Amino acid sequence: MKNTIHNSLAGFVYDDLMSRHMLRQDHPMQPIRLHYLKELLDAYKVFDSKNGVLVKPREATETELLEFHDSNYVDAVKSLSSGETLEGFSRFNFDNFGDNPTYPGMYDSAVLSTGGSLTAVELITNEQMGLAFNPSGGLHHAFPSYTSGFCIFNDPVIAINKLVKLGLKVLYVDVDAHHGDGVQSAFYNTDQVTTVSFHESGEFLFPGTGSSDEIGTDSGRGYSINVPLGPYTGDDVYLWAFEECLLPVVEKVSPDILVSQVGIDTYYSDPLTHLNLTTNGYANLLQHFKGFNLPWVCLGGGGYDLLGVAKCWAIAYSVMIKESLSDIVPEPFASKYSVDSLYDNKELELVTQTEDRCRSFAEKSVLAIHNNVLPLFKKNR
Ligand SMILES: [Zn+2]
Repeated sequence: MKNTIHNSLAGFVYDDLMSRHMLRQDHPMQPIRLHYLKELLDAYKVFDSKNGVLVKPREATETELLEFHDSNYVDAVKSLSSGETLEGFSRFNFDNFGDNPTYPGMYDSAVLSTGGSLTAVELITNEQMGLAFNPSGGLHHAFPSYTSGFCIFNDPVIAINKLVKLGLKVLYVDVDAHHGDGVQSAFYNTDQVTTVSFHESGEFLFPGTGSSDEIGTDSGRGYSINVPLGPYTGDDVYLWAFEECLLPVVEKVSPDILVSQVGIDTYYSDPLTHLNLTTNGYANLLQHFKGFNLPWVCLGGGGYDLLGVAKCWAIAYSVMIKESLSDIVPEPFASKYSVDSLYDNKELELVTQTEDRCRSFAEKSVLAIHNNVLPLFKKNR
C-alpha cells in the first residue's frame, strides 16, 4: 500500500442518524452540525462530481469496542443508553450537568460514529478508495474505562488498531484545538503509530496535557509529538509551526497511511477555544494532508460554531475530491441559514503584542521538537 493511492475516489461516510441525537439541549456538542454539513455539500452538488462518493456507515461491533474499551465501561454505556439508572455512574466520568451527560440512545449513536470510522478504514483497505472522511468520528478524548471531553468511544484508536493489525505504519495527525490525549496514550509506547497533535496549550485549555516534553516511552520514544500553541494563534503562525514540525516527521517516519483528526474548534469564532484559524488557514492544512499522497482516513472532531463547522468541513471535502467550491453559497442553503460566502475574505487582525506573543510561543514549541524529538528518529533508524 505504501505511497500508493489506488484511485482518486473520496468516500464521505454519512447517515442522517449521526446528526439526530442530542447530548443535552444546552450542550456545546451539537450533532446537528453534521446535517448542516451534508445540506451544504448537497447544495454544491459535490456527490455529482467524479470523485465524491456518499457511503453509509456500519455500526461497530461490541467485540471491536472491546479491543480498546473495558467491558464494564461498555456495559455501563449500554445500560445508561437504555434508560437504566446505574449506581455510581460517575466512576465512568458521566455527569449529567457537566461535559459528559448520559442520554437515551447514546450507545447506538456511539457505535454508529465508531462504525463510521471503521467504514472509512474499510473503504481504503478493501475497496481501494484513496481516502475516506467520517465527520462524525475523531472522538479523541475517550479512555478505555471512561468517557471524557464529549467522547464515549475512541474511534481513532479502534480504527488505527485495525490498520496496525494489517502491519501498516500509521501517522496520526490531530489538528483539533484540544490535545489528542486518548489517542496519544493508547500508542505512547510503540513506534508503529506516530501521533502528532497541534493544539492550544494545555495551560489554557482542556484537557491540560500535550506539552512538548510528552514524547513517548520505550520503543515509542520520539513517536508522540506535541506542538502546543498560544491563545489567538492565527493562520500564519499556525501554518509555520505545522510545516516546521510535520514535514520532517513525515519524511523521517515514512508512514504507510495517514489518519487525521480534523476538529475545527480552531476556528476563530469557536465559542470554546481561543485559536484563530480562518477557512483559508484550515484549507491549507487540508491541502498539506492531501499533498502527502498517502492513503488517508480523515476523521472529524470538535467544532462548536455550527455553521463554521459546515463551511470548513465542506471546504475540507472539496480538497479531498479536488474540486474547488465557489465562494457564493448556493441555494437553498444560503437563504435557509443566511450564509452568503463560503470563505473568510479577510485577515483577522490582532494587536501586534498578541501576535508577537503567539509567535514566540510557537517558536518555543517548534524548537523543542527540533531539539528533543527529531534527533531521536536519526538515532533510532
Ligand atoms: Zn476539541
